[in-house]
Amino acid sequence: MTAILRPRSRGCGRSTTSGRKPLPSRRLSADPPTFDLQSHSLHSDGALEPHGVVLAAAGAGVELLALSDHDTVDGVQQALDAASELGVRVVTAVEISSVDRSMQDLHVLGYLVDHHDSVLRDRLRVWRDDRERRAEAMGAALRELGYELDESEIARRRNEGKPIGRPHLADAVVRHPANAARLQQEGLAERSAFLEAFLIDGKPAFKPRTTPTVSESIAAIHDAGGVAVWAHPFWDVDASPEVLETIDRFREWGLDGVECFYATHTREQTLLVADRCAELGLLTTGSSDFHGPEHRLFSKFRAFSTYGREPSLGPIAA
Ligand SMILES: [Zn+2]
Repeated sequence: MTAILRPRSRGCGRSTTSGRKPLPSRRLSADPPTFDLQSHSLHSDGALEPHGVVLAAAGAGVELLALSDHDTVDGVQQALDAASELGVRVVTAVEISSVDRSMQDLHVLGYLVDHHDSVLRDRLRVWRDDRERRAEAMGAALRELGYELDESEIARRRNEGKPIGRPHLADAVVRHPANAARLQQEGLAERSAFLEAFLIDGKPAFKPRTTPTVSESIAAIHDAGGVAVWAHPFWDVDASPEVLETIDRFREWGLDGVECFYATHTREQTLLVADRCAELGLLTTGSSDFHGPEHRLFSKFRAFSTYGREPSLGPIAA
């Protein structure tokens, strides 16, 4: 999840019940769980090659894994190949950054998508390009406001095919020595202070995204044969009533499940979402959101709890 700014970091359509096989529940509901359905490789903002991610998962005792890179399925085949070598089950996945109302970066996970599907791959490419254009437009706006940008890190990321987010633009400004005196004077020498002053909704260099919407992401996942799951709901939405309202709204658009069990979710948050998903017949998935062994927040596989609840992984575990 960390590709893009998370301003407030605190931290389940289509019927999925048909054809669901009984889960090996004793194994999967163990705490810590042996499934871990979000992880990231060098193909987005993770630190390891897909093979290394699967290796780390296997070493940590993960038995059912998803490599869910942001807006790309380019690492999936390598993960599947590694999985068969290492005896881990890997399900195909992608995590699509989506727009919903004022939220610019809501994450929708697609499991069981056909990662060779050309329509899906084309859609993801168009959305990545759109994000790239938006980053360029925000960079241009910052220059118009009189700031210099140190482009070295941005160029490096671009060469590696990694997304350019607002934190990278803010870094480029605060790192450039020509801005130092002005930033000091404005009290904006820290990246997060600068970002909040210029690069969030309503601020002078902010350019909104408009696509894909959550409903477009869900449809794209379904078109590629997958199931759509709202990732880490409490990462993006603070208030419990708003999370429940959002689940209801996304369900109208065909959402199949919610990532109820998550590294930063509290017991209370987990049980709230688990109960609502049970009422609505939605899947409940979970993850530690592994980004690499050195990551500040998401460095350990299986570092999340089901708080005694039975996950409902449906076809993902079938
Ligand atoms: Zn995410």
